[in-house]
Amino acid sequence: MDAKERIKTLTELLSKYAYEYYTNDNSLVSDYEYDNLYRELLDLEKQYPQYALAESPTKRVAAEVLDRFEKITHEVKMMSIDDVFNMGEVEKFVEDVHKINDKITFNCELKIDGLSVSCVYENGLLKVASTRGNGTIGEIITNNAKAINSIPLKLREPVSIEVRGEIFMPKKSLEKINEERKMNNLPLFQNCRNAASGTIKSLDSKVVLERGLDSFMYQVIGHDDKKQDEVLSYLTDLGFKVNKNGKKCSTLKEIEEYIEYWKEHKDELLYPIDGIVIKVNEREEYDKIGYTVKCPKWCIAYKYPAEVGTTVLRNISFQVGRTGTITPVAEFDKVFISGTDVSRATLHNEDYIRFRDIRIGDTIKVRKSGEIIPEVFEVDLSKRKEDSEPFKMIENCPICGSKLVRKKDEADYYCLNEECTARKVNALIHFASKGAMNIESLGESLIQRFYDLKLIQSIPDIYRLVSYRQELVSLSKLGEKSVENIYSSIDVSKSMNLDKLLFGLGIKNVGAKVATLLCENFPSIEALKQASFEELVSIPEIGEIIARSVRDYFDNEKNIIMLKELEELGVNMVYKKRDIVSGIFAHKVVVLTGTLESMTRDEAKNIIESLGGVTTNSVSKKTDLVIAGPGAGSKLAKAEALNIKVIDEKEFLSMIQK
Ligand code: NAD
Repeated sequence: MDAKERIKTLTELLSKYAYEYYTNDNSLVSDYEYDNLYRELLDLEKQYPQYALAESPTKRVAAEVLDRFEKITHEVKMMSIDDVFNMGEVEKFVEDVHKINDKITFNCELKIDGLSVSCVYENGLLKVASTRGNGTIGEIITNNAKAINSIPLKLREPVSIEVRGEIFMPKKSLEKINEERKMNNLPLFQNCRNAASGTIKSLDSKVVLERGLDSFMYQVIGHDDKKQDEVLSYLTDLGFKVNKNGKKCSTLKEIEEYIEYWKEHKDELLYPIDGIVIKVNEREEYDKIGYTVKCPKWCIAYKYPAEVGTTVLRNISFQVGRTGTITPVAEFDKVFISGTDVSRATLHNEDYIRFRDIRIGDTIKVRKSGEIIPEVFEVDLSKRKEDSEPFKMIENCPICGSKLVRKKDEADYYCLNEECTARKVNALIHFASKGAMNIESLGESLIQRFYDLKLIQSIPDIYRLVSYRQELVSLSKLGEKSVENIYSSIDVSKSMNLDKLLFGLGIKNVGAKVATLLCENFPSIEALKQASFEELVSIPEIGEIIARSVRDYFDNEKNIIMLKELEELGVNMVYKKRDIVSGIFAHKVVVLTGTLESMTRDEAKNIIESLGGVTTNSVSKKTDLVIAGPGAGSKLAKAEALNIKVIDEKEFLSMIQK
């Protein structure tokens, strides 16, 4: 292919990737692949400027401006940053800048992987928040920005000012959201950036509030007398959240040490970064150093090489979900990526495998998408064996053997057999899961074990387990104590609120949110049973598909019998209204440890849950808060080791009184 044609191909390809990335929050290729192609295009355009196209992504901030938002013209353009990938390029940047003034120093900052935001304040009050958009025109997202706690609505001084920074999704929030999305059979967010960008474009600010976005500010417009490190202190004084890991560096060596340090430590951060930004600290020199059409020349972004593992694909197995969805899973030789060993990764569906032509025996490249979910993203074709065979989707359920069905306009295949063992076990796992009945001591492997032993075959059997105490105690690895724990968590689950039960039942199209919505309108199982199709669709967010699923469920005699059994076994069937979104513990996972003086543990649990929180018995990285009284032992130690916020009873009381 000649240069002219390659430039055209690359421009088209990169524009397509950029459109998906910026407009649909979807990455068709990894950032690493995108950056490599971008580099190739940049080099070709330098060599053959006569063939460069006006629409080239190297010449403009590539995002489209979305129509569904009101627009704003940025008085000062919001620019991109030139990427560099090795120390040689950093050295060149330092040299170029020093040619203008050899006294110049640098401020190194973490490059937060989110999306940029501009916030305009008038007399100290937040007036307009907007996205970068195409750099010149942005989308107004003021209401959504107000739902981000770290963006102040009122500054500590009544100044009129434009401040810019990054909105991002903390890694923990992404994990939680993806866990919920998995339970609701929704596609997972690929990484924190896509999730942050998708969330900020939501038309419902409640979604932003619930998803726990955060921000770091790093720029002010004007105030040219301040150096960049002084800008950061000024922003802190005004009440903004500023990243504290920035460092003033005077020499190339110091910059290099900073880059090296964060290469080693970036995985420990609670938020995503995709590199380091190196900025000239003396802002008064900015205009002299200048700008390209797309980026300032006084700043560069050093991108860390993607952490990619190369390994051999040994097998493609298939998982059957509770709704019957068949998910192909890659099984490969163990490979170490971003701090952990990985040997399995989802292959999503048939189309994903075919598009990449992934075959058993292939040498594959695996990365952790957003450094969280492992993903097979490329095949090394040069290593492909001659006798390798293209992937063929299975035709029958790997568990029950029934014929699989691919529905029109869907990428997934389904096992439609409701008696399929895998579906039944996964339905039980879903019922006991954290987002549903939260039966903590009854984890996945125990459920599978009890199912195989025929101790649990259906949901009501969970509550009949108490009749099998002797059998349980005599099972290997289950002593008296764990059996007691199982019984106590099953017992606690009986009083879970109705929306948790409804979600746990696994009714088609009824995710956690829809379950709450239904309960808000029909606050008991009896009322839901009686609700007509017309009454259900009259709830604003409930469409015909959901209403039909709900009706189908309650019209099925088998389900009515099961619910009756659950009621007789003592499971709560009525809804207690709570204010989930504004509750002080909204979406927080809280652990109580030690003794409380002013109330019992159960009372404290009830208070936390009535204020939107979830209480669990053990501390893990999913815990948000630990309330520790006198006598707290290992849970407190674990919370400290995991850097989880710990408060005492006094602080707890003052929180709930507020
Ligand atoms: P960028 O995101 O790489 O860099 C500029 C941005 O960095 C700024 O706008 C700002 O929002 C942000 N930033 C974070 N911390 C900062 C700090 N401390 N100081 C200043 N700015 C900070 O540039 P871009 O043009 O938005 O995006 C280009 C990148 O996006 C590419 O390098 C590529 O990796 C990725 N991309 C990927 C795909 C894909 O398909 N995978 C497609 C398009 C773009």
